[in-house]
Amino acid sequence: MSGQNPVFIPGPTNIPDRLRRAMDVQTTDHRAPDFVELFAPVLSNLKKVFKTESGQVVLFPASGTGGWEAAITNILSPGDKVLIARYGMFSHRWIDLCQRHNLDVEVIECEWGTGAPADLFAERLSADTEHRIKAVLVTHNETATGVLSDINAVREAMNASSHPALLFVDCVSSLASMDFRMEEWGVDLAIAGSQKGFMLTTGVAIVAFSEKAIEATRSATCPRTFFDFGDMAGANARGGFPYTPPLQLIHGLSAAMEMLFDEGLDNVFARHFRLAEGVRQAVKAWGLRLCAKSPELYSDSVSAIFVPEGFNSDELTNHAYDAYSVSFGVGLGEMGGKAFRIGHLGSLTDVMVLSGLATIEMAMVDLDYPVQLGSGVAAAQDYYRKTTGLALSQAA
Ligand SMILES: *Cc1c(COP(=O)(O)O)cnc(C)c1O
Repeated sequence: MSGQNPVFIPGPTNIPDRLRRAMDVQTTDHRAPDFVELFAPVLSNLKKVFKTESGQVVLFPASGTGGWEAAITNILSPGDKVLIARYGMFSHRWIDLCQRHNLDVEVIECEWGTGAPADLFAERLSADTEHRIKAVLVTHNETATGVLSDINAVREAMNASSHPALLFVDCVSSLASMDFRMEEWGVDLAIAGSQKGFMLTTGVAIVAFSEKAIEATRSATCPRTFFDFGDMAGANARGGFPYTPPLQLIHGLSAAMEMLFDEGLDNVFARHFRLAEGVRQAVKAWGLRLCAKSPELYSDSVSAIFVPEGFNSDELTNHAYDAYSVSFGVGLGEMGGKAFRIGHLGSLTDVMVLSGLATIEMAMVDLDYPVQLGSGVAAAQDYYRKTTGLALSQAA
C-alpha cells in the first residue's frame, strides 16, 4: 500500500510534516526545570482553544475514551444519576462506560442522524424536581453519523428549567475543527483528544474542567487513581506531572497550537466548513443521502453517507482500500454496512479532499453503483473554484 495517500477516516487524522518533526525529539528529563517551559504554555494555550478563561485544562496519557472515564470518575459517585441521549456509536459507548461505573443512567433514545434533543432534556430536567440528575452528557459531534449538536441550546434548556446539573461535553471530533465555546455555553467539563483536530498521534486525552466541575471533584467518590484530577492539578501547579508524561506528544501539542493560531481559529473553522461543503455537494451530485437529517445538523469534520439500497458500505470501503490504498470510515453500529464516512478534519486542503472524492467515486463505479464517474468531483471542484480564497489552506 502507499504511505503517501491521506486517510479519510475521522481520526486519527493526517499528521502534517511540521508536527511529525515537532514530535521527533530525544528524551529529556521531565523533572528538569525546563520541562515547565514547554508544558505551562501548552496548558494555557489549550484554554484558548476550548475558549475558557476560568476553567482548567489537564492532560492524561490516554485516548479519548480515557477522557470520558476521567470526566465520570472525577465528578460523580456510584449511583449518581446522569442524563444522556443516544444518537450514534459514540454517545452509545459513553452510556456504556457510565453504566459500567454504576451510575444511574437515564437514556433518551433518539433516531440516529438526529442530535442532542434540547427540548427533551428540558422536559426531563423540569420533571426532576428533587434534582437527582447530577450531569447532562452531550456528544457535540457524533462521529458515527456526522451530526453536530447545538450545545448552547442544551445550556439554555438547562437554564430554563433552573436545574443545577453539570454539563459534560464530548468534543473529541469537533474541538479545533469547529467552533466550541466552553465558557460562553456554560460547559462544565469538555473532553478532547490529540488525534483529531490537533492532527497528532493518539495518546493524550485533553480534559477541561470549569470551576464548578473542580468543586464537584472534592465530593466525588468514584474510584480513580491514574485519572485523578486532584493529583494531576497539584503536580501541574508545581510544573510537573504525577507520573511520566507523554513528552513527544506535549511537543506535538505545542506545535499544533502554533499551527492553529498561525492560521487563526476562525480560519480553521472556515476551512473545515468549505472542505465539508465540497463533500456535501459531491454527495448530492452522486444522488446519495447523508445520515444527518437536516442542514443545521451537518458536521464539518465528518460526513456519513448512506449507500443505495442493495449495496454494502463495508464492501465499498474495503474495495477503496484494496484497489486504491485509501481509507474511508466504515459504518459504525446501526450504520454498519449501510453507510460509509468521509473524515474531512485536521490537516487537509481542498486538493486533498478532491483526491478522496475521486477515489471513492472510482470505487463506487467499480462496484456498479448508480453513480456517474466524475460527477461528485465536478460538483466539489465547482464549489471549491467559486469559494477559493475564503479560507487559507494549510497542510504545511
Ligand atoms: C474519537 C472519538 C472519541 C474517542 O475515541 P478514542 O478511540 O478513545 O480516542 C470519543 N468521542 C468521539 C465523538 C470521537 O469521535
